Amino acid sequence: MSDMKLIADGMLGKVARWLRMLGYDIKYADDLDDKEILRIAAEEKRIILTRDYQLFRKANASGVRAVFVNGRTHTEKLADLSRQLNIRLEIDIERSRCPKCNSAIKSVSKESVKDRVPPSTYKMHDEFWMCTGCGQVYWKGSHWKKINSSLDQAKKILLGGNAETP
Ligand SMILES: [Zn+2]
Repeated sequence: MSDMKLIADGMLGKVARWLRMLGYDIKYADDLDDKEILRIAAEEKRIILTRDYQLFRKANASGVRAVFVNGRTHTEKLADLSRQLNIRLEIDIERSRCPKCNSAIKSVSKESVKDRVPPSTYKMHDEFWMCTGCGQVYWKGSHWKKINSSLDQAKKILLGGNAETP
């Protein structure tokens, strides 16, 4: 399922960024109307992820696959998507996409990012990745830990009902 392509409506920006980190090719359609989302989904064979019941119905009516995303919090939404689309909630950074622009990211040498990251980051980390599209540099810093704890929360929701807090 990992070559599944997706398109998310404007209400799912954060979830879209997480799905990119999980390795999914996902367009974030925050400036598109329903008609355009439906057209792109049909043309590029993307599954629509939406919080908009009208859009969900329109997609069904026109034969485009769509998932209506349930959940209040971002982690609940992610858990719901994982359930509906069988998405694995583990990041394999070799397959991750850039959360900003959806391009592939690649491992780069520490030396090559010396002038592009804060000195303290450079000192603390040895592994870096760079987006092949926008050039954004990534490392496993505090943001990384936060994402992983969100994924853990989503897994807990999947396993044991809907409790957000332990
Ligand atoms: Zn990028």
